[in-house]
Amino acid sequence: MRGLIMDFQLTIPAMLRRAEQLHHDREIATRLADKSIHRYTYREMISRAKRLVVALKKLGVADGDRVATFCWNHYQHLEAYVAIPCAGAVLHTLNLRLHPNDLSYIAGHAGDRVAIVDEVLWDLFKEFRDQVRFEHVIVVRSSDRPLPEGTLDYEALLAAADESQFVYAEIEEHQAAAMCYTSGTTGMPKGVLASHRAIVLHSLASGMTDTLGVGSCSTVMAVVPMFHANAWGLPYTCLLVGAKQVFPGQHLDPPSLLDLLVRERVTITAGVPTIWLGMLEILDANPKKYDLSKLRTIVTGGSAAPPSMIAGYQERHGLHILHSWGMTELCPVGTIGTMPHRIAEAPREEQYAFRAKQGRPCPFVEVRARNENGLVPWDGQSMGELEVRGPWIASGYYDRPDAATSFTEDGWFRTGDIVAIDRFGCLQLQDRAKDVIKSGGEWISSVALENALMGHPAVAEAAVIPANHPKWAERPLAIVVLKKERTATPLELIDFIRPQFAKWWLPDAIEFAAEIPRTSAGKFLKTALREKYGAYYEQKDKT
Ligand code: ADP
Repeated sequence: MRGLIMDFQLTIPAMLRRAEQLHHDREIATRLADKSIHRYTYREMISRAKRLVVALKKLGVADGDRVATFCWNHYQHLEAYVAIPCAGAVLHTLNLRLHPNDLSYIAGHAGDRVAIVDEVLWDLFKEFRDQVRFEHVIVVRSSDRPLPEGTLDYEALLAAADESQFVYAEIEEHQAAAMCYTSGTTGMPKGVLASHRAIVLHSLASGMTDTLGVGSCSTVMAVVPMFHANAWGLPYTCLLVGAKQVFPGQHLDPPSLLDLLVRERVTITAGVPTIWLGMLEILDANPKKYDLSKLRTIVTGGSAAPPSMIAGYQERHGLHILHSWGMTELCPVGTIGTMPHRIAEAPREEQYAFRAKQGRPCPFVEVRARNENGLVPWDGQSMGELEVRGPWIASGYYDRPDAATSFTEDGWFRTGDIVAIDRFGCLQLQDRAKDVIKSGGEWISSVALENALMGHPAVAEAAVIPANHPKWAERPLAIVVLKKERTATPLELIDFIRPQFAKWWLPDAIEFAAEIPRTSAGKFLKTALREKYGAYYEQKDKT
């Protein structure tokens, strides 16, 4: 028997309607290019987003058309986040940290018709603009310099649009709302197409108390870029619940971020560990300077958070780091490290051990891990490749039938991440499948070794890679960047981590470097390290 309940469509226009009725006087603050703060309310944001819908339709944007953005985190980008899906089109966020060749491939493959571009990013945009058939380019200006040739002014478009022509479109919830390409660390970038329904459910779930806990009294600053993985969905979560939003614009240096956190009394912020490591250094050097008493949660994800960083914030500054794991293919949040009651009641050491892991699945995200013997038990030890399914997880890639191998026969997404799952269902990420070190037929987690090395007071950063080995196939090699004016010998570092690992897990060598190359998303670029150091032990063997 079917239930007698309305078939209500879960769409971004439905979120907008709610925001219009309930959240109108909540504030949205942006740090502009000139560093001044722009403020307005949801009422003004919604009015402008509606005018953007009208303007896009006037330009000929039709259902399903892709409209690209090439912007920092700011209020106009939020307007685009809302307006493009409400126009029935697909918001395609272009990652400004990618190489122009990748960007022209991505925009071409997606078939972007229109692009909304920050004036401050014009030089980057110019490098691939001509390779893509954009019909219209709209510029978000931050100066009174003349508009680049053949472009439209964002503000002029809005000024000319008549808000009364806006109508709430009847959109079917499975229609695509947003598109985001993976950064291509594993082959050509692939397009993930999020539906309206996926974004609504992701927003509902990630706002919950046991996940990120975002509510109408929250003030949220997404440091994580809106051009990569939808700023972890935070702009939509805030729209749904009516949280105040704070956007740092292009100013991502730790002092500017700290200034905003204090000034706007931010309660939840989110970003990658690199950002938080930089901020911790400033806080340690100026322990009393910043009043962060409102800051309840610092969400970290994108790469593993070193336990020393989690403890550093907590012990020295009373600030709570919350670990989360996700992927572009998950729109993007999959797990969050909120403590279950048993851990919340456990001794502090146990809590730290739990908080260093990547967390438990959000409601409706299902996880399992598999190795060559089948599904692995949830014992916190056995490693396997993580497979996931759920209502905001990709079921395929845009126009890439060849990528079907990313899915299991029974329809789960194969993440390519190697994890152990504990009895609480908490993931501990051990590696990307391609980065795990296979030594004599056994697996060694590079992430675990990196985290331990980064706990040494002289170490700023550590990356561990598999280097080919004549006897063991691969052995771990650590590349370490020391903190300024600190010294340490390889033996000292190995002795430091020795108590935490089986003997055969310890790196056979440590190389010091000035820096570790990073990907566009701030993760260690291990491919570059492997190219440089992959033959380290073989060469050593010959000498
Ligand atoms: P890409 O395009 O490189 O896949 P994503 O931003 O989608 O970019 O990256 C997803 C990957 O980032 C995950 O598969 C995982 O390897 C890594 N990752 C994400 N969150 C964490 C975390 N909290 N700890 C460790 N690794 C993480």
